[in-house]
Amino acid sequence: MNEAPARLSLAEWDVRYDTLRQRGLREAWYGGSLSRHVEHGDRRLLSLRFDNSPAALRLWNLLLTEEERLHAARAGGKKIVGAMKDLGTVPILAYAVPGLVAFYPDGAWWIPCLMEGSAGLLAKAGALGIDDTFCPVRAMLGAFETQRHFPIPDLLTCSVGATCDDFSAIAQRLEHMGHPIHWWEIPHRRPAEPGEEQTLLPTGATVAQSEIAFVARELERLRRVLQDLAGRSISLDDVSASIRAANVVRRLLCALRDAVYGSPCCPLPALEMLIAEVLPVHFCSDRSETEAVLRELLAEVVRRVHCGSGILPQSAVRLFWVNPVADLRIPRLVEDCGGRICGADYMFCHAQATIPENVPPLEALAMAALSDPMAGTAVDRGRWICREARRFGAEAMVISRIPGASHCATEGEIIRRVVTRELPHLPVIEFEVPSVADALLPTLQTRVEALIETVRLRKVKP
Ligand code: SF4
Repeated sequence: MNEAPARLSLAEWDVRYDTLRQRGLREAWYGGSLSRHVEHGDRRLLSLRFDNSPAALRLWNLLLTEEERLHAARAGGKKIVGAMKDLGTVPILAYAVPGLVAFYPDGAWWIPCLMEGSAGLLAKAGALGIDDTFCPVRAMLGAFETQRHFPIPDLLTCSVGATCDDFSAIAQRLEHMGHPIHWWEIPHRRPAEPGEEQTLLPTGATVAQSEIAFVARELERLRRVLQDLAGRSISLDDVSASIRAANVVRRLLCALRDAVYGSPCCPLPALEMLIAEVLPVHFCSDRSETEAVLRELLAEVVRRVHCGSGILPQSAVRLFWVNPVADLRIPRLVEDCGGRICGADYMFCHAQATIPENVPPLEALAMAALSDPMAGTAVDRGRWICREARRFGAEAMVISRIPGASHCATEGEIIRRVVTRELPHLPVIEFEVPSVADALLPTLQTRVEALIETVRLRKVKP
């Protein structure tokens, strides 16, 4: 099965799937052909290109069967926790006991793209008073209203304080619609004042120790709520074990990022990397499968790097990408224009950093939560982006704005200023990517081509 890496259309994958099956492909229980997801409404898959490895097939199937797995978990007697706006903290507490399954309702962000608007979630949110002046995460509101996607959680949690205005407003609207929420607070991250103790966070930012203590108390409240839901105690040892298991996933993802972004041969497409990068946030509702998928992807990438075989020519221009794209066609557009994504800040970097294992577990989780780029300043975020762009040898940067997102109004300009100061030779462009970007594709293509041309010209005329 060691074929050369390639990007296949859905129809080509169907043929390959049959071939792999004839050769004895073994799949996880949620496996199957990718095209069956189109029958369930994921029409965007018809416009995408997919990596041809069995590892990528397993990744896609894990992602696209999440709703089925959540319904199966409910039917099996498990309690469902919807962990909103924390990107990787509450799921670790929930997975500390076997009877709970945590998922990320904010992930409905991608439904309008995957279903090409056919689910009508954004219109539903608009009818509920949350229109397109808000970020596409408002699709989540439509999913709660229609109840045709994920099961309505037994418990909803949501962080407040240092979060975006969009999510605060949407979550408040959700609560008014009759979905009670357990709120917990993350303060804006600040360094210590004179005389205060300061701690270095896993992502390299610093924070006053008193803030860690505050968030740890908030998490203690959450631990008790989750205990009540699970009907059994969640000891600190349980939490420590869950942190260790999460760190296994996080280290695998870091190894994958290093291998893919650091290699000259681009061993995995940017689209599969985007999906892999989101996995540590809530393990796609299945921690052990997430670990297995990442192990398989990493093994495939290591094999490709060893053979020097990639999906793009080595001359592809190395772009660092800022912010997740709501339309999954964009990574392919970049690659078709002669670029490759060699590093990204998809706003999940704090869910990828190893959580400290040598401090009390709730403090360790508080440190992870406070590492969220949204909890600190845009300058802090810009510095992290510069470190990563330097580390992976980026030749240019794209800041993709999220339509309606409150933080995107000014954040891109601040990040650009930090980058221009720290990496003055790096060209930076900024543009907005809507959930279904078809009408804008020619414009976006021209912008990306111009950026790539600029880098190439600089190479020949230093
Ligand atoms: S505005 Fe930004 S941070 Fe807030 S929910 Fe949307 S994408 Fe996430």
